[in-house]
Amino acid sequence: MSDWSPVPILMYHAVEDAPRAPQYKHFYVTRSEFAAQMRMLKRGGYTPITFPILAEAMAGGATLPAKPVLLTFDDGYENLLTNAHPLLRDLNFPYTVFLVSERIGKTNEWVIEEGFDATPLLDWNQIREMAAWDGVSFQAHTATHPHLNRIGQDQLRRELTVSKQQLEQELQLPMDVLCYPYGHLSEEVVAETRAAGYAMAVTTEFGRVRRGDDPLRLPRISVYHVPFLSLTYGVGPLNFDWRLRTRKDSRSAPNG
Ligand SMILES: [Zn+2]
Repeated sequence: MSDWSPVPILMYHAVEDAPRAPQYKHFYVTRSEFAAQMRMLKRGGYTPITFPILAEAMAGGATLPAKPVLLTFDDGYENLLTNAHPLLRDLNFPYTVFLVSERIGKTNEWVIEEGFDATPLLDWNQIREMAAWDGVSFQAHTATHPHLNRIGQDQLRRELTVSKQQLEQELQLPMDVLCYPYGHLSEEVVAETRAAGYAMAVTTEFGRVRRGDDPLRLPRISVYHVPFLSLTYGVGPLNFDWRLRTRKDSRSAPNG
């Protein structure tokens, strides 16, 4: 089809009330930055879409809006409830949150060994409160947020299947999309992801989704590396081709 144009999947993590120390700058945007970015998307004519729509479009069965975009939030931070959800609901911008099933109601303790402070994650009640609006999709980000390419096959299968089962049971919704922690994957990780029943998976590879891309290796655009302000001039950072051509991401975030 000739109407396909590359689709940006934006990657966010936390949306904080106030700026934190500089070493966290690849981990959060502030509430005011986030609000400004969402307004820019709206003003720029972008239409947030969902993973099922993207899947249909990649299979040739759905026509995308002129400027589609997907909004994703890794790890499921508690601050999304107050700092992102109300705004996105008001704008009618659907979005996806990737949950770490055995850390729900706890913290992102996996960053502690890297020298970062832990941040609270959503609990089940908060997740259900958000899920009451059908624009929210919760999907899987493993059970404990390991480096999937560094663990044995038994543990790998457990991380993929336990998280899927646990989230499906709690939310009574299908978990079809996986987010690889840290963006780390391998041929084995992708094969096991497919075997576990996921139809799509997102990485931290920098780029927009093209028609023929592998649905289990979808690139994303880390918002920490996009000059959102240029949207207001119609240049469109989401059309950032000089950079996207390299399909490389120089990020060094504490988590993915
Ligand atoms: Zn993560």
